[in-house]
Amino acid sequence: MKKLRKEIDFAINDHLNERTVYSIGSLTLMLGHVIYLAIFLVLNVWPMVWFNLFSVPFYAVMFVINLKKTNYTQILMLETFEIMLHALAGMYFMGWEAGFMIFYVCDATIPFFGGFRKKAIPLIISFTNIGLFVLLRHTMYDWAAPFHINDPGIMKALYLYNALAAFLIAVYISSYYIFIKEKMTANMRRKNEHLQKLATIDPLTELFNRRAMMEYIKLIEKKAHAEHINYNICIADIDDFKKINDTYGHDAGDEVLRVISKIFVDVVPTEGYVCRWGGEEIMFALPPSDSDMAIFVAEKVRMKIAEQEFELDGQKIHVTMTFGVCRVRPDENYDSGISRADKRLYEGKRTGKNKVVAV
Ligand code: GH3
Ligand code: MG
Ligand code: MG
Repeated sequence: MKKLRKEIDFAINDHLNERTVYSIGSLTLMLGHVIYLAIFLVLNVWPMVWFNLFSVPFYAVMFVINLKKTNYTQILMLETFEIMLHALAGMYFMGWEAGFMIFYVCDATIPFFGGFRKKAIPLIISFTNIGLFVLLRHTMYDWAAPFHINDPGIMKALYLYNALAAFLIAVYISSYYIFIKEKMTANMRRKNEHLQKLATIDPLTELFNRRAMMEYIKLIEKKAHAEHINYNICIADIDDFKKINDTYGHDAGDEVLRVISKIFVDVVPTEGYVCRWGGEEIMFALPPSDSDMAIFVAEKVRMKIAEQEFELDGQKIHVTMTFGVCRVRPDENYDSGISRADKRLYEGKRTGKNKVVAV
């Protein structure tokens, strides 16, 4: 019993998953049949009392199976079959007026939500319901039902109860369809975001990769062109990085790259974009602006990196970086902006490194 309660808790708490939806469905149908049992007992419709003495435990079992298993399709098929039989029995013993035939309408739609692999199965179940409805309308409309109740008030109430129960099933199963659709959409979105992240993020530095940067530059180029404002690109390269690798090993080099990347992310304003441009080259771009912010940003990053102490192989070392900053004109192609930034970077390397070159 304790285990069962734990499973119920799990099913309810584990968000609104498929299992919960089916479990609540079976539980509700069980309660519906408890009410039927009471109604038929009061009205002395004994064959239906017997039927419901079977239906109540049937749904209780379905509920428990729902909690444990994930094969919902078969359960849904059994439940559809029970609804069909119960409606048939109700109609046989109490007559057309009691309204049991309404269940055939909702029972004809349920199998389509069951996820049957063979597409013909829901169609067969559905057409069986439709066929039964037509056949019974033809044969049982004037049927002298053995347990027909002569009180029109009672028959009206029973009709309404049947109709409401059928509506409830139809609404529940339709909302379940929306739930599944939303769940699938959310799953797909999550997967897409993950794929997009894989396609745009450099795994080592967790900076954007070159491809993502190109997209961003194309975007700001368009904006700069429309607003007639310059924008800035900066390419930076670690000084004597080969020596770091050669002295302390490739893993130490990787760690230096990671720490330096983090400094860029911390300093470059959020409206800008930082990427790993190549091996040990990092680029940042800032959106169109009249200011010389890029030079200040580059200078600040340069200083922070130079101040950063790295402990590699038990030795405390400092690493420096050289920067080439270029202000790209709105009428200029970004390619020429990038190559100017590159030229300035190498000008900085040639003239002593650890500097920002902007003209
Ligand atoms: P300079 O100051 O002129 O830039 O000298 P440098 O030694 O940094 O330049 P060079 O182009 O000779 O060497 C760059 C080195 O960067 C060589 C390459 O192995 C290393 N490198 C590139 N990508 C990575 C990486 O992802 N991890 C590590 N650890 N090293 C890398
Ligand atoms: Mg270098
Ligand atoms: Mg280089």
